[in-house]
Amino acid sequence: MRYKKLAELYEEISSTTKRLEKTKILSKFLKEVNESDKEVLYLLLGDIYPEYNEKKIGISNQLAIKSISKATGTDAKEIVNEWKSIGDLGKVSEKLTKHKKQSTLRTHILTTEKVLENLRKLPELEGKGTVGKKISLITELLTSASPIEALYLVRTIIGDLRIGVKESTVRESMASAFFEGDKEASKKIQDAINKSNDIAEVFSAVKKRKLKDLEKISLETGKPIKVMLAQKVKTIKEGFKALGKPCAIEYKYDGFRLLIHKKDKDILLFTRSLENVTKQFPEVVEYVKNYVKGKSFILDSEAVGFNRETKEYQPFQNVSQRIRRKYDIEKLQKELPIEINVFDIIYYNGKSQLDEPFKKRTALIKKIIRNHPYKIIHAKQIITGDEKKAEEFYKKALKDNQEGVMMKKLDAIYQPGSRVNTWIKLKPEERDLDLVIVGAEFGKGKRSGWFSSFILSCSDGDKFLEIGKMGTGIKEKSAEEVGGTSFAELTKMIKPFITKEHGKRVEVKPKIVVAVTYQEIQKSPNYNSGFALRFPRFTALRPDKKASQVSRLKEIKKDFEKQKRNWRYG
Ligand code: AMP
Repeated sequence: MRYKKLAELYEEISSTTKRLEKTKILSKFLKEVNESDKEVLYLLLGDIYPEYNEKKIGISNQLAIKSISKATGTDAKEIVNEWKSIGDLGKVSEKLTKHKKQSTLRTHILTTEKVLENLRKLPELEGKGTVGKKISLITELLTSASPIEALYLVRTIIGDLRIGVKESTVRESMASAFFEGDKEASKKIQDAINKSNDIAEVFSAVKKRKLKDLEKISLETGKPIKVMLAQKVKTIKEGFKALGKPCAIEYKYDGFRLLIHKKDKDILLFTRSLENVTKQFPEVVEYVKNYVKGKSFILDSEAVGFNRETKEYQPFQNVSQRIRRKYDIEKLQKELPIEINVFDIIYYNGKSQLDEPFKKRTALIKKIIRNHPYKIIHAKQIITGDEKKAEEFYKKALKDNQEGVMMKKLDAIYQPGSRVNTWIKLKPEERDLDLVIVGAEFGKGKRSGWFSSFILSCSDGDKFLEIGKMGTGIKEKSAEEVGGTSFAELTKMIKPFITKEHGKRVEVKPKIVVAVTYQEIQKSPNYNSGFALRFPRFTALRPDKKASQVSRLKEIKKDFEKQKRNWRYG
């Protein structure tokens, strides 16, 4: 396909903010896309591969600037100046390409295949001369690009497409293009996306207009899937009301989600964001090899840190560095040991378990895993309809330093990617949020080299909305010395994502998710969410969460209302 066609689509979609309009435009386009061009769907979502594939473009603004400079024959300094005034490197590239095009003629017509071919070479490059090679690959595309193509090429490579198309937009557009917007079809499409995490594969099936083909898309070991999520209640009673009696009640461990795949001899570990973290947890691979029976399987679990001496469970923030750290693995493994608590099984010996009742899946876990405390165990569980027993279990979980309990319906199926009403979470009065950093400010005095305060946003599903400024909870010294996260570390993480600078203040691409506690939520005209957090305090980085998974404004409003009712306890 001509890349021009895609660029024009981006342009048309960006011209409206209305979701229905976007869906209409996209659905018309999808009808015209041939099966052989299905990979343009990756580009549509700003990607080069299916979501489950970890290879991302990963180009910094600096490298993009160098490439634009080379392609347009413009001094890099001038590009930076333009960027500061326009605030969008894509637009800068469009403008410079327009100027250049008056004097030179384009030699090649750009196709989506060529764009994918070059962009897919980027994450493969390693070692000496990498930077030069990357610049050449991008420059080759940019020199063939028209101004509007240059705009979207640059936005794609820096991972900031800004057309307001999400997976849900593509799903609705597919349902509208091929099934006249049928609700059932839309649900089946989403199910297929959640299982395969490959939008192009789903598109192939959808294009045939056969729901049966869509149903055939299934799980594969080794390919990460989206996890099932729970809804919230405030009391045990409410939980029973939602699920019926009896139900299963489990510890809600304060750790991080780990999906364990066994495919032939290989064991692979993924986070809930589909990130492959196998290398970071060699001991887990051993536990699974030694203590879990089965040729192939996918287990759903929570990894929890514990203190090696006292054997006490540790809060999530203590082990969070294990997810990110790619070096000193052995040392970290000793210092921050984890226990795997398996609570579900999704696939076993060649067969999907998604449609089996939870009770049967639990029984299977017990059959194939031998409990080895502080290594790998079945999640602590009781099955009861007795409220008193349930309350006691809840108290015990809290005493054991865990977050609360999960209540689960006994005959529930496993629905990847869905927040279901068959899983219920219960934890004490909430006082923490996951938020994304969207801005930062350089500090003064001894903090002058670092960002020392951070603008945080929640989400309303479509947009990020600012909700406060945080500066406490972060360490002056390095993580190695004192544990936790330091200003220097956060500053280093933020720098590649800066999009605009205003003196000491910078705007930042929403990428870095942090867990934050606060004392109170207030109404506030100062932030576009309409709320402000009082005394927000950093507790941990959430490298396992994506910006799209931060707390929703809806929940924050609820917490605000709840806080009004309970404020005397706060
Ligand atoms: P939240 O992140 O507050 O929405 O809570 C859901 C998370 O709790 C899941 O994504 C898991 O990481 C975690 N979790 C801890 N224990 C369990 C359990 N027994 N069953 C399911 N999820 C659990």
